[in-house]
Amino acid sequence: MQSHLLTLCYLIGSITFIIGLKMLSNPASARKGNLVAAFGMAIAILGTIFLYTSETGEHLGNYPWIFGGLLVGGVVGTLAAKKVKMTAMPEMVSLFNGMGGACAALISVVEFNHLSKEIAEGVVSAGDVQPTVLIIVLGLIIGSVSFAGSMIAWGKLNGKVKDLSFTGQNILNLLVLAITLAAGAYLVYDPTQHMLVYVILGLALVYGVFFVMPIGGADMPVVISLLNSFTGVAAACGGFLYDNKVMLTGGILVGAAGTLLTILMCKAMNRSLQNVLIGSFGGHKSAAGASGKDQGAYKEISLADAAMVMSYANKVMVVPGYGLAVAQAQHVCHELEKILEEKGVEVKYAIHPVAGRMPGHMNVLLAEADVPYEKLLEMEQANDEFKTCDVVLILGANDVVNPAAKNDPASPIYGMPILEVEFAKTVIVNKRSMKPGYAGIENDLFFQPKTSMLFGDAKKVLQDLCAEVKSV
Ligand code: NDP
Repeated sequence: MQSHLLTLCYLIGSITFIIGLKMLSNPASARKGNLVAAFGMAIAILGTIFLYTSETGEHLGNYPWIFGGLLVGGVVGTLAAKKVKMTAMPEMVSLFNGMGGACAALISVVEFNHLSKEIAEGVVSAGDVQPTVLIIVLGLIIGSVSFAGSMIAWGKLNGKVKDLSFTGQNILNLLVLAITLAAGAYLVYDPTQHMLVYVILGLALVYGVFFVMPIGGADMPVVISLLNSFTGVAAACGGFLYDNKVMLTGGILVGAAGTLLTILMCKAMNRSLQNVLIGSFGGHKSAAGASGKDQGAYKEISLADAAMVMSYANKVMVVPGYGLAVAQAQHVCHELEKILEEKGVEVKYAIHPVAGRMPGHMNVLLAEADVPYEKLLEMEQANDEFKTCDVVLILGANDVVNPAAKNDPASPIYGMPILEVEFAKTVIVNKRSMKPGYAGIENDLFFQPKTSMLFGDAKKVLQDLCAEVKSV
């Protein structure tokens, strides 16, 4: 009876993961989707704790340890998630992902030790357990790489770890990987070599560090997404090991979602994964333009003039970018939108898929400020509408509106789909200086006759714009 109930718990868990993931694909349902999946996970965890029985009919036991761990982890996780700033989300995701990888690796070590004991006691023969050891070794290597890589990614995102690359690094990395895999293969061949499990653990951790170390700090979101898929696969190995369906489903979903997200991010930046992993785009920024050509002069616009132009416009398209997130200007941006609409101006938002520093960054940011979802246009829709806009107001965005992506084959971002803002009548760009964005390249748009620069911190500028527009 208990085992049937447990199967039901796992079924509920698996179904809620799938439903939750589907709901996450829309900003309107994302929050609920997260709760649905978390509910399923809680059912699966509680089911395992109270309903699982071993072949000899024993319950899990160890309750003080289990609930102690749940309590400490739950409190730390909740506090961290509540305190984290939106711009530091990729760091947090990286940290949490690393913990998942570490769990998978530790499960492998623990289960290998159980198996070793059984081999030593003659309960099972080394030959019989080879398939299980294969799963253990896979979980160990993938989980350790994910843990060590995620920790380095976390360090790079918060500036504690600097990029490190040297000639021959890729060859050294491949060598470490080859030795790790060879040691893993040997352990599968001869599971009695129990000390090898620690050698593999050490080597995989070193490989995880080496793997992420040379990748440019700015490419970390893609790397984290890739490592996230690794953690999913490592967790799925755990599912195989315990014949636990919910762990298997969860692992496969994370693995597949992480892989798809990695591909989507690469596509949106028009770069191959190989280029992200061994290229240096975003790693070594230069303030100069890609082609180094003289761009000429740019013109500035005053707050009063910007307010005037927008107040008399029929349609204003706001293009939010990373700078809006840094300035935490989403609320005052929504405020400006409402003031303009009171004056009869139609206001919409153009959302580039990789604006900001993580997928969906702008959607989450604007949702936080209660901007209605139907005002957010995806890139293709927005590109159809720019020609009908009187004003485009760019707030802390740079690369995602850089026409070099279309016009300059020498540019590192050539081929990346962009928001074609230059089709609007007037373009106003708010940023603090002429410094480049993520890709480290200058932006031709800022020097075009239609474009005017409105310098300053996005929050301050928007606050002042609200006051000016009100007084027009
Ligand atoms: P960018 O990084 O290109 O530009 C952001 C701009 O914001 C900067 O030029 C900066 O200029 C300005 N800025 C910074 N702080 C402020 C502030 N307080 N107030 C006003 N402006 C500010 O951002 P985009 O969003 O246009 O592009 C995102 C980039 O990130 C793309 O290259 C994308 O490929 C990359 N990327 C995105 C990922 C994602 O999933 N979203 C993942 C990986 C990479 P200044 O210093 O002069 O103020």
